Amino acid sequence: MADVIVNDSFSGEIEIDCLIIGGGAAGLTAALAAAEDGASTLVAERENQLSGSTALSSGLIPAAETKAQKRQLIDDNKRTFVEDIMNKNNSSADPSLVKLCVENITFALDWLEETHGIPFQVLDDFLYPSHTNFRMHAVPEVTGGALINYLEKAVSELDIYVSCDLQIINLVKSSKGKILGAIGQRPDGSIEKISSRSIILACNGYGGNTKLISENIPEMKNAIYFGHTGNQGEAVIWGRQLDAKIDHLSGYQGHGSVAHPHGILVTWALMMEGGIQVNKNGKRFSNEHKGYSEQAVNVLSQPEKIAFNIFDGRLCELGRKFEDFRKAEEANALISANTIKGLAKKLGISEVSLSETILEIDVLSEQNSVDRFGRNFDDKNRLQPPYYAVKVTGALFHTQGGLVIDKQARVIQNNGSVIQNLYACGGAACGVSGPDVSGYLSGNGLLTAISLGYIAGKSIKRIEF
Ligand SMILES: Cc1cc2nc3c(=O)[nH]c(=O)nc-3n(C[C@H](O)[C@H](O)[C@H](O)COP(=O)(O)OP(=O)(O)OC[C@H]3O[C@@H](n4cnc5c(N)ncnc54)[C@H](O)[C@@H]3O)c2cc1C
Repeated sequence: MADVIVNDSFSGEIEIDCLIIGGGAAGLTAALAAAEDGASTLVAERENQLSGSTALSSGLIPAAETKAQKRQLIDDNKRTFVEDIMNKNNSSADPSLVKLCVENITFALDWLEETHGIPFQVLDDFLYPSHTNFRMHAVPEVTGGALINYLEKAVSELDIYVSCDLQIINLVKSSKGKILGAIGQRPDGSIEKISSRSIILACNGYGGNTKLISENIPEMKNAIYFGHTGNQGEAVIWGRQLDAKIDHLSGYQGHGSVAHPHGILVTWALMMEGGIQVNKNGKRFSNEHKGYSEQAVNVLSQPEKIAFNIFDGRLCELGRKFEDFRKAEEANALISANTIKGLAKKLGISEVSLSETILEIDVLSEQNSVDRFGRNFDDKNRLQPPYYAVKVTGALFHTQGGLVIDKQARVIQNNGSVIQNLYACGGAACGVSGPDVSGYLSGNGLLTAISLGYIAGKSIKRIEF
């Protein structure tokens, strides 16, 4: 059990300025920011290597007015980005937190690039749902695995200690409520005590904790969890014991396009550029352009909890730009046919229904008009033979609720005061998606990991020793 222990005379075997719990994007960004300002920094990661959900992700980070956007002559602004986030969460997230993240992600990406040699480019061949501009930044490999590798390399070039196979099991505080350090456990059961002048919680949310998911997100309790299993919700568990303010625990990122039964993410770019989803009856059931997060719930409500992504050769080429899609193709998740009837037959669904559905979207596309779900069809994106399909299901990717923080990423208590020396960032902190699955705008995950990681790390120098 992850407990907060009270011990006024706590003394660790090691003594540092900053202990960071978790070695994903949030933790490593925080480590870079803290260490370059002179703080002695230790990153404790429970797994035997740095990974987290960050390494499983597509690695796409939204930001406006960055140097990368300017190089690609993309005329974006932070105000519109804030509006996009607030529109998607239906104004249910804290606007000051949204502005804080949007402001700082620009600094953070430019700084990661210029100071730490992490190259970014902007994906500019399709818009992600509800983003009004091209602002998804990625490293050249366009994978979360490569992003973690770049961050790990940058961390290795500074004086930062990284200790894998070190699970933090307890926080230690004084009787006056000041955080004094933590207790970690090695896989062999041995215990390590760490005295730290500050602790940054970068241990993500509770997606891997079935009890917390059943409690807070019951609609996803039986869904596939596609994130990192190390995310067991300690930030919330410790936060509750510290009387921390915790918000939006029902918020999360889902995804409605995980190849089934292969378990491989199939990029939503296919839907944004003309693809559709149909159920086993060959019928569409939603506006695919609203967002892939809420589509998890829509797909799981269909017969047998599955849907088929229907697309064409042009979209197949677009998909091949993504490593996951190439993996899905290698795993034979893609089914193709020269005619819609042939495709329906291979999928085992009604030829008549699928033909009717395609005819309907053909007419909508020809007229550049809006369907009954509110999706706009465009003639330039009309599906052409050969046709392709992938059977998909909905999944839980990561949770969005967590510890409420102030502008320095300090954890706030229910009475409004800050917990001395305790910070939170990334999925450990309450995010910018509000309390509902539909509030997740693409990229909100890495947005809060990197921007809040940067803020938390930079705040450490403000501690008075
Ligand atoms: C398949 C998939 C695709 C995604 N794609 C995108 C995307 O393209 N863009 C985007 O913005 N978001 C995306 N996300 C979400 C994104 O991955 C997360 O929001 C982000 O990685 C969170 O970063 P983090 O550093 O907070 O957590 P993580 O990267 O999960 O790191 C947390 C680390 O803390 C460690 N840890 C936990 N508890 C302890 C403990 N007690 N002691 C020591 N270590 C501990 C964990 O093992 C883990 O390594 C995706 C998620 C998934 C699952």
